[in-house]
Amino acid sequence: MTPIKAVLFDFDDTLTNPGAIDFPALRHDLGISEGDNILAYVDSLPEAEQIEKNAILNDYEMRASASASAAEGAEDLILFLMEKSIPLGIITRNRLKPIMRSLENFPQINADHFKVIVSRDDPFPAKPAADGVIHAAKIMQVDCQNVLVVGDYIYDIEAGQNAGAQTAWINHKENLEFQNKADFEITKLADLYVILKL
Ligand SMILES: [Mg+2]
Repeated sequence: MTPIKAVLFDFDDTLTNPGAIDFPALRHDLGISEGDNILAYVDSLPEAEQIEKNAILNDYEMRASASASAAEGAEDLILFLMEKSIPLGIITRNRLKPIMRSLENFPQINADHFKVIVSRDDPFPAKPAADGVIHAAKIMQVDCQNVLVVGDYIYDIEAGQNAGAQTAWINHKENLEFQNKADFEITKLADLYVILKL
């Protein structure tokens, strides 16, 4: 087993409570169907429409982030891993501003607890592309194979795998088609203590 030396967390539905963004309503307002890749869709539009759709997207993300709260066990886990000097990062398809807003709602955690926050504001393709994981590994000064990518969605797992990282999927009892794709399956963040052998 390759040792895990750094942990890269997805944000929405992983470090924050599930349901932060109302995706069905967002898809409705953007005029796209379930299963379509939202960011790829917006990027494919002519520029004027992109601006319009991005405004809708930003509005949803800022509203959601204002009501986000720390997922169960997230703060304890992060503080514990910090104590163990394990570098931590966030990788999200969201923009940086709503992430920073959400983190304000975490009583014990702030952005300084993370060595890197990879967001849509970075100049490379979002998950499931490998780029963000590779970038984060570089900043955390570990090889990709020593990074554990933790997330609830298939893009998290694919991004980790595309970069050659290890992956842990959080099973929230939905999206069961993602089962058996990741190296590890957990049902809560506290399960990571065992995986990390801590
Ligand atoms: Mg997520």
